[in-house]
Amino acid sequence: MSDTKLMQIPGHIDPVPVPRDVTPREDGRVDLIGLPKKRIAELFEVAGLDAKAAKLRAKQVFHWLYHRGVTDFAAMTDIAKTMRPWLAERFVIGRPEVVEGQHSTDGTRKWLLRTADGHDFEMVFIPDADRGTLCVSSQVGCTLNCRFCHTGTMRLVRNLTAGEIVGQVMLARDSLGEWPKSGQADLAALDDDLVDEDGGYSADGRLLTNIVMMGMGEPLYNFDNVRDALKLVMDGDGLALSKRRITLSTSGVVPQMERCAEEIGVNLAVSLHAVTKEVRDEIVPINKKYGIEELLQACADYKGASNARRITFEYVMLKDKNDSDEDARELVRLIKHYKLPAKVNLIPFNPWPGAAYDCSTPERIRSFSNIVFEAGISAPVRTPRGRDIDAACGQLKTAAEKKSRAELERLYAEKEKALG
Ligand code: SAH
Ligand code: SF4
Repeated sequence: MSDTKLMQIPGHIDPVPVPRDVTPREDGRVDLIGLPKKRIAELFEVAGLDAKAAKLRAKQVFHWLYHRGVTDFAAMTDIAKTMRPWLAERFVIGRPEVVEGQHSTDGTRKWLLRTADGHDFEMVFIPDADRGTLCVSSQVGCTLNCRFCHTGTMRLVRNLTAGEIVGQVMLARDSLGEWPKSGQADLAALDDDLVDEDGGYSADGRLLTNIVMMGMGEPLYNFDNVRDALKLVMDGDGLALSKRRITLSTSGVVPQMERCAEEIGVNLAVSLHAVTKEVRDEIVPINKKYGIEELLQACADYKGASNARRITFEYVMLKDKNDSDEDARELVRLIKHYKLPAKVNLIPFNPWPGAAYDCSTPERIRSFSNIVFEAGISAPVRTPRGRDIDAACGQLKTAAEKKSRAELERLYAEKEKALG
């Protein structure tokens, strides 16, 4: 059967059932971004292609989508000319809509994005001398309510789909102009030292080299979509980024951590932020459910962590809350006790309107860092980036609506109740 045989009735479009992993669109077409090759083939079959043609077309389309970054079926030159409109009538190649893009004086870029059904979320690109890191969101808002985090003051609107998550990476490549140009060699044909050991691109010549799941949301509470999106990012036929260049940050959703190692296999970052139950219960309330000991044990069990691939412990520096020398010594003790291959990332608190905390003084941060460092654990202080455009990871929200303290307290109480 030819690919286009089902176009017998002029003007008639066979409806393609909307898969659950896709945001429904008003025009009824299905967005292919976020779907694995197998699902694309299934959808092509449902739309009327025979199994063999569907598989072949899916392979070709997948390559155009993830390897070449095209957003128009008309550009898919190895697909029959008659087939291209057939695809365009039933499918789209989506990108999150850009509501606004901002450029910081230090090169940091921030985008306010919108889903097809009108929810806003953010993405940030942070260039450094040796790498370029994209900070990706996993949810619109967050169900958790870490007290120092602005995202925690939003009511969760919803999980982002795999397409909306991988779509952020694709959009960043669009904006940075980083898709292979037409006629340019394929990945497989690239010079050997441009391809790293996992077959992905190396840092050479590319701006976007690393991804951190540190935008809005708790990625382990949207596990399936985050996994499916990162699989596309890591797929050698897809975006081909090495798992070594991807870091997932969690506030400590212990039951999902093992799955994260097994099903995704990326680097792990843990938002520890405190070393006593009392303080962590206050600032990272998920601690009431999964305590520090349980969390650190899950880190010790995390498959894939080693001295070469350390677990990052994020620690936000809050004045007079978690920043004493005693806290630093306890942090060292805990890391040694659980024999964790660890590095500590000290994050100066980024204040927002209504926040109940201040950032520690530079002297305090230095003293804390020195204690950890002298114990043989790397403890860099993360330089705030893109401050002029409010771009700090974990604080991704434009036009901060000011909430009164009473409103915030009500919201926190509501969320804690939901957490159980
Ligand atoms: N939900 C995940 C990932 C998103 S938050 C998590 O909590 O790990 C990414 C990082 O930014 C976390 O370590 C978070 O604690 C930190 N963060 C959030 N708000 C911040 C703020 N105002 N200042 C500094 N770091 C912040
Ligand atoms: Fe959610 Fe992470 Fe912010 Fe906590 S720090 S509220 S888990 S986004």
